[in-house]
Amino acid sequence: AGVVRFEDVRFAYDPARPILRGVSFEVPAGRTIAIVGPSGAGKSTLSRLLFRFYEPQSGRILIDGQDIAAVEQGSLRAAIGMVPQDTVLFNDTIGYNIRYGQWDASEAQVREAARLAQIDRFVSALPEGYDTPVGERGLKLSGGEKQRVAIARTILKGPPILVLDEATSALDSFTEREIQDALDKVSRGRTTLVIAHRLSTVVNADEIIVLDRGVIVERGDHQGLLDLG
Ligand code: ADP
Ligand code: ADP
Repeated sequence: AGVVRFEDVRFAYDPARPILRGVSFEVPAGRTIAIVGPSGAGKSTLSRLLFRFYEPQSGRILIDGQDIAAVEQGSLRAAIGMVPQDTVLFNDTIGYNIRYGQWDASEAQVREAARLAQIDRFVSALPEGYDTPVGERGLKLSGGEKQRVAIARTILKGPPILVLDEATSALDSFTEREIQDALDKVSRGRTTLVIAHRLSTVVNADEIIVLDRGVIVERGDHQGLLDLG
């Protein structure tokens, strides 16, 4: 389950300025497809359409053969996990932040998700800048640690489909590699759409699609695209 399919999708925020000009691709169940391309190519717009924040002007988006136009946004949010570019933390413990939206999860499940994302040592800590008790200091989380919180939240949620939006772009290269390992673990066995600027961050994708000004200009595996120059 979890096949995502875009069929000749066209979209414009402003009718005079087409953003997606006939985009078709399929992410087979459990596979990882990366969408790579310059800023403004329309990559994030694809993910917004998948969540039904907007409707395509024409074409269809299907999940397991069902047109998402007939699926409620709430159900899409349950089926699709998102690890965004930067994670905004709520005014509560890291554990609460991991649990957010998964209120039925047990304490043990939260801890296990935190362990897998390697953020377990902070589960009871409060992030810096929030209402920490008098005399206590909040914890200053690095960009990579915040991303681990988002990863733990996604592990806990366990959706069949994942969208990773330039998930490591704000990190130094060492942290990036570590986070990449964590993301690879989360995406294993899930249908994953990675949105990225650079080819170097999507080495493990089953297929890489290069989007430029709203059209697919290349597709292939990592080595194939490198050979193209
Ligand atoms: P990418 O993710 O590849 O950088 P986006 O999908 O974010 O590209 O944006 C594609 C184009 O759509 C850009 O030119 C951007 O300025 C424009 N755009 C994005 N969001 C909106 C919006 N809400 N209203 C109007 N134009 C938008
Ligand atoms: P942006 O380019 O501003 O990051 P995106 O279109 O990539 O916007 O993502 C849509 C926004 O909505 C993101 O900020 C993301 O955090 C949020 N979002 C949408 N759906 C979900 C979801 N199911 N789970 C978590 N966050 C979601």
